[in-house]
Amino acid sequence: MPYDVEKPDEQWRAELSPSEYAVLRQAATEPAFTGEYTDTKAEGVYSCRACGAELFTSTTKFESHCGWPSFYDPKDTGAVELVEDRSHGMVRTEVRCARCGSHLGHVFEGEGYATPTDQRYCINSISLTLRPAEG
Ligand SMILES: [Zn+2]
Repeated sequence: MPYDVEKPDEQWRAELSPSEYAVLRQAATEPAFTGEYTDTKAEGVYSCRACGAELFTSTTKFESHCGWPSFYDPKDTGAVELVEDRSHGMVRTEVRCARCGSHLGHVFEGEGYATPTDQRYCINSISLTLRPAEG
């Protein structure tokens, strides 16, 4: 399925930093507890660092203590794309930006977190840009 935002690989490589490229375009994972938004509590909207699509809001961010920013719901159901991921000998659900197909992280459910959805969207900080709410 084509995405609304499609760019040749060399263009992504030029526009993103090497570490952004590794996560967003090659599905790498940033080391736990290193991302800039892991413990961020600021109010605002998190958008895709590759294409700017609005993906998550601070209102659904919760403290999962897993080392990555965690949300219990995307901003809009259609904002993200879920794809089965069988890499690394596991079956997981990959979360991608629905607009440009960039890798964001994975979603897990049934872990027992006290959230309305019992889902944890475990997202790399480096895949996101926080636009703080206007005071
Ligand atoms: Zn995107």
